[in-house]
Amino acid sequence: MDNHSYTFSQRANRLNSSVIREILKLTERPDMISFAGGLPAPYTFPVEALQSACASLFQDHAHASLQYGPTEGQMELREWIAQRHGTTASRVLMTTGSQQGLDLLGKVFIDPGSKILVETPTYLGALQAFTLYEPSYSSIPSDDFGLLPQELTPELADGARFIYTIPNFQNPTGRRIPLNRRHELVAQAKELGILLVEDDPYGELSYSGDHLPSLHSLNPDDVIYLGSFSKILAPGLRLGYIIAPEAIHLKLVQAKQATDLHTPSFTQRIAYEALRSGLLDSHLPIIRQRYSAQCQAMLEALARHMPDGIHWSRPEGGMFIWLELPEDMDAEDLLQKAVAHSVAFVPGAPFYASSPHRNTMRLAFVTVPPERIEQGISVLGQLIRDQLSIGYKTGSF
Ligand code: PMP
Repeated sequence: MDNHSYTFSQRANRLNSSVIREILKLTERPDMISFAGGLPAPYTFPVEALQSACASLFQDHAHASLQYGPTEGQMELREWIAQRHGTTASRVLMTTGSQQGLDLLGKVFIDPGSKILVETPTYLGALQAFTLYEPSYSSIPSDDFGLLPQELTPELADGARFIYTIPNFQNPTGRRIPLNRRHELVAQAKELGILLVEDDPYGELSYSGDHLPSLHSLNPDDVIYLGSFSKILAPGLRLGYIIAPEAIHLKLVQAKQATDLHTPSFTQRIAYEALRSGLLDSHLPIIRQRYSAQCQAMLEALARHMPDGIHWSRPEGGMFIWLELPEDMDAEDLLQKAVAHSVAFVPGAPFYASSPHRNTMRLAFVTVPPERIEQGISVLGQLIRDQLSIGYKTGSF
């Protein structure tokens, strides 16, 4: 049967491949210097620890780890997580990556037209997950330190199902919400009776190792927390979790059961085996140190090669720098030119739920060796200069 004769659901018909995705396919070329991918660096994967966890699992619990398990997840791992977050295992649901957590939240909270509040900009993958359930988005104005609590007005919050935020080293901007603003945000959300969804895959990647309290720790009954092992162990394990008050937890479990019965017993047990021996105590400092050096290499290259008038974030953790071009310059045009010079990044527009800023872009710095960072940023700097001088000559700014 020819593709055109299938009758897809209306939901499936709304899915489409973006122009950017098509351009980024080119970035798989080996000569490409790609700041585009959002992947953690493979050199941080704790291969030996996972290998010995795997061996002892097969030694001691082979059959249990190959059998179906409970939808909520493996109890020892849930207890380990609960202890780290000062909560009880009865609130922890293991998910197949935190991306599945986003999908489950969409399933249980979003009807067509439901209002959802998001940061400006926000994680593209969350927009993709929620959009399948047809919400109407409202963007909360944000600055270099994340969303602005005073902008969370009663009108904006009216009827909204939840606020989605990434307080630590946000994807895509790298910014972190400061302590006082966390308190204000949690208090304001409580006052307005609106749920907060806190997505936190990067919280452990603070370069100095410091921690700010999670929104969840400030108000566990009105904040849903999404965690992930993708950036601190390995994304191929597909392990994430949701911490939620019991009534929400129960709904999420029901939705997950229908989705995939449970997250693989096998990877949950491997992770637990590795974690219970204290792996993170030795492993996290290694990731932080490496990522901090990578970030520094990119910040120094930007300072060397970018012309005046270009602004970028200076993250204190995580994997991304956010760059703002002059207002009239379109990052998608720049990407076309950059790819022709074997350099890639992700234009910022798709990270906005509404009113995209087309002059923005995300630079991922953890997978590219420092000398290639230098080379790639120098190419981008030159292309921007060229563009600026054309604009200047033609008066097109
Ligand atoms: N949330 C954010 C903010 C992310 O950046 C990512 C991954 N890039 C995810 C969720 C999904 O992560 P995973 O499914 O691997 O846990």
